[in-house]
Amino acid sequence: MRTIEGISSIGANFRGIDSVVESGGLFGIWNHPLANKITYFGLHALQHRGQTSAGIVTKDENTFTSFRGRGLISHIFDTEDKLEKLVGNSAIGQVRSATVSDQADDSNIQPLLFHFNNQSIAITHNGNLTEALSLRQQLEDEGAVFSTNSAAEILIHLIRRSKKNNFTDAFQSSIEQLNGGFNFCLLTDDALYGAVDKHGFRPLVIGQFSNGAYILASETCVLSSVGAKYVTEVQAGQYVVINDEGYHITNYTNSQKATLEPMEFIYFSRPDSDISGINVHTARKEMGRRLAKERPTHGADLVIGVPNSSLSSASGYAEEHSLPYEIGLIKHQYIGRTFIQPNQELREQGVRYKLSVVESLIRNKSIVLVDDSIVRGTTVRHLVELLKGAGAKEVHLRIASPPIRFPNYYGINTTHTEELIAANYTIKELNELFGSDSLGYLSVKGLVDSINFDKNIPDQGVSLDAYTGQYPSDIGDYQNEFQESLTPLQKKIIKGEFSDE
Ligand code: AMP
Repeated sequence: MRTIEGISSIGANFRGIDSVVESGGLFGIWNHPLANKITYFGLHALQHRGQTSAGIVTKDENTFTSFRGRGLISHIFDTEDKLEKLVGNSAIGQVRSATVSDQADDSNIQPLLFHFNNQSIAITHNGNLTEALSLRQQLEDEGAVFSTNSAAEILIHLIRRSKKNNFTDAFQSSIEQLNGGFNFCLLTDDALYGAVDKHGFRPLVIGQFSNGAYILASETCVLSSVGAKYVTEVQAGQYVVINDEGYHITNYTNSQKATLEPMEFIYFSRPDSDISGINVHTARKEMGRRLAKERPTHGADLVIGVPNSSLSSASGYAEEHSLPYEIGLIKHQYIGRTFIQPNQELREQGVRYKLSVVESLIRNKSIVLVDDSIVRGTTVRHLVELLKGAGAKEVHLRIASPPIRFPNYYGINTTHTEELIAANYTIKELNELFGSDSLGYLSVKGLVDSINFDKNIPDQGVSLDAYTGQYPSDIGDYQNEFQESLTPLQKKIIKGEFSDE
């Protein structure tokens, strides 16, 4: 087993480093009599961001109550009394997608709850600290004891060690020390806190109810579900403090060019969410339109998308070429995202059980199959087989984002080169591997233009590291792993010697 230099003493290895990546959806509410129920429904609206576990902590004066469990939020809170025990006017909660290494470890289920000096802090986060392992090592050397693998616990130790006089200053000086991609949500006796990393890799929005109560959430789709109005976003390098006086946003770092994680638009977010005022469905549809212009399919009979995240881009592709757009694949709704399954065997099974084909639509037709992205290639490989098995004459794969050729270290569950099929193969080779009749990806420029951040919002862009290997910030503890695992194709891309766009 390969180890990462310098941190092998704490048992970190290629798999161990997984445990610090935390994808999921966050929710927080301050001062509302229905805090428990609103948090439940808020997390319900964020369920697409993670389905392996969830939890809620409520605060009643100085008393914090926690309930956490494995599975979907409706499964964890299967009876009303479980929610009713969570008393109080303020709460935070999380739905999460556990990584391979902590599937079986319930101690990592968030929110985490800490007590010290007669006060309590509940904390939840998503993302990945690029220096989590070295920071943790440093804290352990200084005497800190950890009970989870979570970066949330690292932040708590930093706060505890801070010499600042009040909690807010201690919180600020602690998040200043963190690098990578993260959103944190904390609940203390006095306030609700939300923080976003220095690059703003993923969104955190503030909403408000008509009674004045504020919420924090990972996506705007939550707002209509719980009946709150959009207030603003917490931007890159900012944190917000929400208390009885209202909300207050602070810049904790000198302004940097924000680099949003494009997978938020491509895959993670719900189509009805807006990110910095740009609607996710609209951006995806534009990705489909541009893909159609860049990679037309001559002689195709119809376009189908892979439900659910590719339906918007498939409709854009069809519209651009005036081709019929059909629902050729049916998703069995209650299975969950295949990517989130614990290992490759189950993941492959997941794809099989997850999608069915409408055979009468497909038979003897030349199909354009649009998917939002390819990670390991499990989904598309299976779908080509499924469609051909159902009698499709031709299957032309069109991917509404560029090939994912480099790992991501900012909180997406694609941390290992070995799991990225396009890190090893050209598009031509991938087409042969998948058994498709042609394969075309959206270009990097096409992606950037579809989201159109630069034009709409000055100083905001998207992070293109997954496609180019150019990371917007230092990758910290991952540097050795990155260098050691570079494939010949990745090396050529970095040197500017290869492109198959
Ligand atoms: P794969 O089957 O491994 O190629 O995974 C690709 C599929 O998973 C795509 O159809 C996406 O909808 C979805 N996907 C892409 N990126 C992620 C991610 N980081 N986490 C979960 N699912 C993803």
